[in-house]
Amino acid sequence: MFVEPHIGRSEDHAGKGWIEVVCGSMFSGKTEELIRRLNRALIAKQKVEIFKPKLDTRYDKTQVVSHNQNSIRSTPVDFSEDILLLAATSEVVGIDEAQFFDEELVTVANKLANNGKRVIIAGLDMDFSGKAFGPMPELIAIAEYVTKVHAICARCGGIATYSFRLSTSKSKVLLGEKDKYEPRCRRCFLSGQ
Ligand SMILES: [Zn+2]
Repeated sequence: MFVEPHIGRSEDHAGKGWIEVVCGSMFSGKTEELIRRLNRALIAKQKVEIFKPKLDTRYDKTQVVSHNQNSIRSTPVDFSEDILLLAATSEVVGIDEAQFFDEELVTVANKLANNGKRVIIAGLDMDFSGKAFGPMPELIAIAEYVTKVHAICARCGGIATYSFRLSTSKSKVLLGEKDKYEPRCRRCFLSGQ
C-alpha cells in the first residue's frame, strides 16, 4: 500500500506541493485508491477538491464513482485549465480519468504542486490498443510518486495490465464497463488481437 512519505504540517513540509499518479488498466482499482487517499485527507479536515473531465458520464454527473459504489463528490470540467481557478483555495486536488484530459493538464498539475498543493491523479496508462493514453506518460514523468495498480486477467487469472476491448469499435474513447472491456495480461491481450 502507498504510504505518503512527507505528509503533515510540520515546518519542513509547509507549503511544499507534490504530485502523485495512480495508473493502471480498467478494473485495477485506480479510482478506489484515489478515493481512499482523498477520504483520509477529508477526515483530517484538509480542503479537498476533485475534478474529472466532462466526457466521463458513465455514472452520476457530479461524482467520481468507483466500481464498488464508494463515491466522492467531484466537479466535471471541460478543460484542464479550469482546475487552476476552481482549486485555488484547496490543499489537496484529486483528478480522476486524467487520460481524457488535454495535454495542458501537465502544466496545470505542475502549477498546482508548485503552489504548495498535493495533487493526486488517477488515470488509464494505456488505451485499448496498448498505447500510452493522453497526458498520462508526461504526468507519470513529472510526478514525485507513481503507483501502478493491476487488475486480474479475465482469461487466465494472471496479473492484468491491459484493457481489452470486447467490441470491434476503433474509437479511442469508448465509454463502457464490463460489457465493453475486460482486463487481460500481456499474453491473453496479444492472443485476442
Ligand atoms: Zn491472461
